[in-house]
Amino acid sequence: MIKIEQIYKSFGSNEVLKGIDATFAPGKVSLIIGGSGSGKSTLLKCMVGLHEPDKGRVLFDGKDFSKLSFEDRIPIRKEIGMLFQNSALFDSMTVEQNIIFSLDMFTEMSKSEKLDRANFCLERVNLKGRNKLYPSELSGGMKKRVGIARAIAMSPKYLFCDEPNSGLDPETSILIDELILELTEEYNATTIVVTHDMNSVMGIGEYILYLYKGQKFWEGSNQDMMRSDVEELNNFVFASPL
Ligand code: ADP
Ligand code: MG
Repeated sequence: MIKIEQIYKSFGSNEVLKGIDATFAPGKVSLIIGGSGSGKSTLLKCMVGLHEPDKGRVLFDGKDFSKLSFEDRIPIRKEIGMLFQNSALFDSMTVEQNIIFSLDMFTEMSKSEKLDRANFCLERVNLKGRNKLYPSELSGGMKKRVGIARAIAMSPKYLFCDEPNSGLDPETSILIDELILELTEEYNATTIVVTHDMNSVMGIGEYILYLYKGQKFWEGSNQDMMRSDVEELNNFVFASPL
């Protein structure tokens, strides 16, 4: 479980996050939605330690990540899988090298164990045998899947995905969502997905955190969103491009 409490973050005079609270449950996909510039990516980065929040706490199963030293964060970092916006694969590395990267950094696995793990992850994302290709040889959807294979290499307890559907056609987009949901259940991971995609909201959004100008505008499930008493919200969501 991940809990965030009163997260504040500014860049200079730009107050981007203004006191966000939320709880993200294990074994479920939680979504962070909101308009462009509403602070979604910044919030995700504050959670994984790529940004330091100015105020507030990020609790990974009760452990306050924001209070830990670099050294003491390592055990939690090992349990985090991250799919970056635009996949962010290392262009000079093969698919296999990309997947093995975190295993090299964080584990004592032997070469053959690492290759076995890479094969397992590639099979899991339906890219068996593509080990030796370079990112430049992959389609957008394949890059996302390699990004996911890399994110699950360490069997993550916490999985973060920033815009996993961006740039994908609707069919591939649905396949990626299904894969994220399956992996979440498989690892009982606490999964947090930042998305622009209304199909994802309706398909996999068991918990939705809606940000508006750096504040929590609404939270609930996609079922709640469909109820008539949040009609006003729906008008807002569907009328404004996410
Ligand atoms: P979203 O992901 O919802 O589109 P972001 O979190 O990327 O929004 O950005 C929110 C705001 O924070 C924007 O105004 C953006 O310009 C600003 N911002 C994000 N990252 C940085 C940064 N590293 N330095 C300065 N400003 C930033
Ligand atoms: Mg973003």
